Amino acid sequence: MSANATKSMDEIVALCRRRGFIFQSSEIYGGINGFWDYGPLGTQLKRNLKDAWWRDTVQGEAKGPGGEEVQVVGVDCTIIMNPRVWEASGHVGGFNDPMVDCKESKARYRADHLVALGAIDPGARLFVVIEGDEQQLEKAVKALLKYERCDALDPARHVVRPFTKLSAEERTHAIGPDAKAPGSLTEPRQFNLMFKTNVGAVEDPSNIAYLRPETAQGIFANFENVVNSTRVRVPFGIAQVGKAFRNEVTPRNFTFRSREFEQMETEFFIHPSQANEWYAWWRDRRFAWWQSIGLAGENLQLREHDRDELAHYAKEGAGTSDIEYRFPFTAPGFGELEGVAHRSDYDLRQHAEHSGRREKARYFDTERNERYFPHVIEPSAGADRGTLALLCEAYTKDESRPSGVYMKFHPRMAPVKAGVFPLVNKDGMPEVAEKLYRALRKKHACEFDPKQTIGKRYARMDEAGTPYCITIDGDSMTQQTVTVRHRDTQQQERIAIDSVPGWIDERVGGA
Ligand code: ATP
Repeated sequence: MSANATKSMDEIVALCRRRGFIFQSSEIYGGINGFWDYGPLGTQLKRNLKDAWWRDTVQGEAKGPGGEEVQVVGVDCTIIMNPRVWEASGHVGGFNDPMVDCKESKARYRADHLVALGAIDPGARLFVVIEGDEQQLEKAVKALLKYERCDALDPARHVVRPFTKLSAEERTHAIGPDAKAPGSLTEPRQFNLMFKTNVGAVEDPSNIAYLRPETAQGIFANFENVVNSTRVRVPFGIAQVGKAFRNEVTPRNFTFRSREFEQMETEFFIHPSQANEWYAWWRDRRFAWWQSIGLAGENLQLREHDRDELAHYAKEGAGTSDIEYRFPFTAPGFGELEGVAHRSDYDLRQHAEHSGRREKARYFDTERNERYFPHVIEPSAGADRGTLALLCEAYTKDESRPSGVYMKFHPRMAPVKAGVFPLVNKDGMPEVAEKLYRALRKKHACEFDPKQTIGKRYARMDEAGTPYCITIDGDSMTQQTVTVRHRDTQQQERIAIDSVPGWIDERVGGA
């Protein structure tokens, strides 16, 4: 079993709040379910993730499956678009989740996230819990044993079944996760996940608009604009990083399922005959990317979808896979960080049809002398889930340290790259330390901290996940050297003060 199964999510959430990684949105008013704010350290961490993604996806050099240079350009589209975009994409009609309301507690759940524990006998009382919620399950087991007046579960009779598989009759005997009486859960109903708003001064059905539930459609809607205004030619990609909104029925697991989140998406346009090779290329490249930023171990996996899991547009395609991370709350299972899908030409065709542009929207390939709708390979990643994975992966207990814990971020991702300290706050040391700090901060996020004992300062940096602490001591004044303390090993080495900027550059990469 991986170490992540033993990490406590409560402790990680507490550290995030205490050290300013992530706060509940509008906490002073009791918060708002499904919304999260990033504090100073969290903002820097998420920015490092997004910057690395942008640099590696758009600016980075890469050779495609045929050895060709991979071209990707960026766009930055609006969150509110013409609502017809969402009719064309299928979101108005089909972006639904099955939802269940509890008439007693007024809580609302995703029907496909609920399971029912109870005997299989007709009329048996069923205890409904959110799948994967250990505390709820424990409570339900106790309640069931008490109700049936027995000491232990009988595997031949007591089973856990998906809530969606219960009959209407069985639902009348089911008690909701936050309820006391049976029969309070409604029948599952389809619920559209898009947030609605009105554009303009009056609230009228004619001016309804939606907050985008994904960034991808802005890219598809601008496909012709990009082709006409730049020199990119198929195969090429368009990338975008930005906010997306989904009115999730049951936001949960910290930032994993939020109602406002950020995506990092690329739509890569190819000739239909090249779908297989580009799909495999992107899938492997994206997996390697997550490994390169510190999710290198067994907590990361690539999972190819079964045919029956595929979206309607991908059925005949080259495939779909998820890059998944084993979060403490999914362990021993995994949760999706990024999906890589062959979307065929579905979206471009839909927009060509709905916008009335039809044949005009077809791409003309001058090299092949052929007109066609390019196929699309879409790697779609979540910046918040990525940040959460970095936090969970980094969280490392170490009782031998004063902090009891340290955050083992990959140096490229670490929010603070170096802490610069004078050993004591006198004898010219603060001035030398501050000068070095000012030189370093031109390129990197660094902290200067002249106060408290050196042990306390190391402990603060350990919790922030700062990979290097540089201390100016007596020898620095006479020999122009400093000590560098490595976060993970706590080992120290001496290097020349002049070499510090280059030494840090080398270790934290471009970020
Ligand atoms: P899930 O099945 O977990 O709801 P999805 O398959 O609907 O996710 P996509 O539509 O493929 O997700 O979105 C691409 C990426 O956007 C996901 O891999 C994830 O990282 C991120 N994402 C999607 N929904 C959320 C959310 N509610 N909160 C945070 N990130 C999300």
